Amino acid sequence: MPTPPLAGSTTGPAALRPLIDTVLTALQQGARRRDGPLPAGGPDTVTAHMRTALDPLIPEHGTGPHHALATLIGALTEGAADPADPLCAAHLHTPPLALATAADLAASALNPSMDSWDQAPAASTLEADTTAALAAEIYPHHPHPDALITTGGTEANQLALLLARERHGPTLQTITGTNAHHSITRATWLLGLPTPLTVPAPDGTIDLTALHNTLTHHHGHHPLLVTATAGTTDTGQIDPLTAIADLCHTHGAELHIDAAYGGPLLLSPTHRHKVTGLDRAHSVTLDLHKLGWQPASAGILAVPDHHHLDPLHHHAPYLNADDDTQAGLPDLLGRSLRTTRRPDALKIAVTLQALGRTGLADLIDRTCTAAHHLADLITKHPALDLYDRPTITTVLFRPTNADDHTVATIRRTLLTRGHAVLGRTRTHGHLWLKATLLNPHTTPDDLNKLLDLVTHLTTELTESSPNR
Ligand SMILES: *Cc1c(COP(=O)(O)O)cnc(C)c1O
Repeated sequence: MPTPPLAGSTTGPAALRPLIDTVLTALQQGARRRDGPLPAGGPDTVTAHMRTALDPLIPEHGTGPHHALATLIGALTEGAADPADPLCAAHLHTPPLALATAADLAASALNPSMDSWDQAPAASTLEADTTAALAAEIYPHHPHPDALITTGGTEANQLALLLARERHGPTLQTITGTNAHHSITRATWLLGLPTPLTVPAPDGTIDLTALHNTLTHHHGHHPLLVTATAGTTDTGQIDPLTAIADLCHTHGAELHIDAAYGGPLLLSPTHRHKVTGLDRAHSVTLDLHKLGWQPASAGILAVPDHHHLDPLHHHAPYLNADDDTQAGLPDLLGRSLRTTRRPDALKIAVTLQALGRTGLADLIDRTCTAAHHLADLITKHPALDLYDRPTITTVLFRPTNADDHTVATIRRTLLTRGHAVLGRTRTHGHLWLKATLLNPHTTPDDLNKLLDLVTHLTTELTESSPNR
């Protein structure tokens, strides 16, 4: 076989074009064969099918690019849980925009690495300006806000706690709601910080009286960092950010807001009031691979002043020699704990420019409207109970009078039949089905279909086991 062509330079695009055609054909045919939100048959069937395509994984002599691309991408697509299908709505698993995916192709072709200027000359400017612009959305009244690109909310939360630890030392005590994302507790474990104190969130958001009591009890004993959530994973609720910021101010505690899910509401004039108070935080996590329709990954950690990022500065003479920096080569190493790093800012910048404020707001508004419509349909349905009106795009519901075992069985049966992907949440003593809507193309018909699947299956399951 001749030496395979490369993706970049002046010859790369011509080599890529036929390969991409093969990829696109495989994506289309795989989606047709699946014909639904996920493959039917459950893990055994899907594994067997994928293994067939993978065999042999490392042949003695290669099968060639078109064959390998068609085989593996075809099988992967056929076996995918596809968030672009409106009935795939379990998690904060976004259907990426075609334009962002196209931009990501260029990121792969050029392969800038964001750890030094000589690997990413223009990309470093693109990233710096994109992060500055996003930081200014979150902290509009601060003169020098800044933001880092992360692999997601998990890494952003880790960095937030790391920066707080560097400001206050290893006795930093975090205080979280029981509604906080699991990555906060994991970050304290990773960073050698005391285990977080947890404040109850009986109605899905942090109980302010309990937070006040915890802060009063610990005030003055150790440095304190409260983490609040704007868009919880289970219910999509938003903690009372302004009131929490006020309590933190009174008690000399710092505040981190995990707005991985809810942060992008800032871009919608209709919904931005829900995240008022974000700019009171010492750091804010935001994920654009959720309500920003980016392919993974596209996380952000924003801070009100660029000097807050100083502790991340690091010296590695082959990447940021002092004389290079003095001569004007930008020093990028302090923009992450990672070294080699993809230019995830590219797809974000393309999306921001292509859609503009109104285009992004429209995507957010459509998706929130779909969630409200789903809640309306559930409220009107005699055989379904709604947990609560959605704050963002998460809707919890359950068949009336079904026990938890039936609810769990409904979810798994929809999965194994390949009919729908719904999530599950335990709250208020019950197991609920969770629809996390992120698809701006979802129609009322899709939502009716989703509910019909659930109610028909409920009938089927209750009739087949009359003792339950
Ligand atoms: C999704 C999410 C995270 C984790 O983000 P990843 O991008 O999956 O690492 C953290 N916090 C909240 C509130 C989230 O919704």
